[in-house]
Amino acid sequence: MPDLRPEASAAQAQPEDDLIQPFLLDSSGIRGDLVRLGAAVDRIVTRHDYPEAVARLLAEMLALAPMLGSLMKFDGVFTLQTKSDGPVPLMVADMTSEGHLRGYAALREAALEALLAQGPAAAYGIGALLGRGYLAFTVDQGVHSDRYQGIVELRGASLADCLQHYFLQSEQIQTGVLVAAGRDARGRWRSAGIVLQRIPPEGGEGGERARVPVMEVDEDAWRRAMVLLASCTGAELLDPALPANDLLYRLFHEEGVRVFRRHPLRDRCRCRRKRLEGTLRSLPRAEIDDLMIDGEVVVTCEFCRRSYRFDSAALDQIYAS
Ligand SMILES: [Zn+2]
Repeated sequence: MPDLRPEASAAQAQPEDDLIQPFLLDSSGIRGDLVRLGAAVDRIVTRHDYPEAVARLLAEMLALAPMLGSLMKFDGVFTLQTKSDGPVPLMVADMTSEGHLRGYAALREAALEALLAQGPAAAYGIGALLGRGYLAFTVDQGVHSDRYQGIVELRGASLADCLQHYFLQSEQIQTGVLVAAGRDARGRWRSAGIVLQRIPPEGGEGGERARVPVMEVDEDAWRRAMVLLASCTGAELLDPALPANDLLYRLFHEEGVRVFRRHPLRDRCRCRRKRLEGTLRSLPRAEIDDLMIDGEVVVTCEFCRRSYRFDSAALDQIYAS
């Protein structure tokens, strides 16, 4: 069992960003995950040049995806997505079981400009930016396995509110979700979050934590844990000088917090030229030819902004195969 005294964890010199840190409150059996994103979220968000309010919401979503993905214990791709009628009609964050993370937001430019023109307070909260719609998550484990989808209406002030509501209504699992995003002193994006669940996910949990006997969590212990979670400020969650384990110790030391093996996260897109070729082939050649500018069709990945170029010869080859 790792020693959680602050001196000990500081001496381990582990990376303190871009990670999922699973933990257990020993006194009650409540399970949780802490996610912290530094360089990964900064790279993903800044390559898009979104307005500040949109960047912040996407940074939150990029922390939420691994928090939920870790609860689901999937093998494949976990996707968190909003679809709505507001100035930001679509936001996606996804993560593979290897910890590769990516995300983007689609914008209705005119509606967003009109909203932002009302000042920064107007764009605060998911209602203003996203409007009405839903939040969905999907676990895609490849062709030989089921897709699991959860879906919940966008309501409340934050994505965390929506998710807590989902788990309570659809899964009857009490869940505490805390998430924050912001910039550090040098202007780089950071995001982080903690999720606590009263009942561990059914079956299939791998790793060391699976070997800890499951305990019945009593109401008092749950309430205590939620109070402790709520005492955590956004500044603490995001503080680059506060190591992950020190934060958990600060919050939950009276509950006897135990940490397990960390999972690294990184900024990595899954787009491939081969896959795009398949998409192009599925469309009529005439439609693709219409998109040609200066002798080539340029397809840009929504997630990572990488551009793929196809000239006539390349297209001939795609449609011939
Ligand atoms: Zn990409």
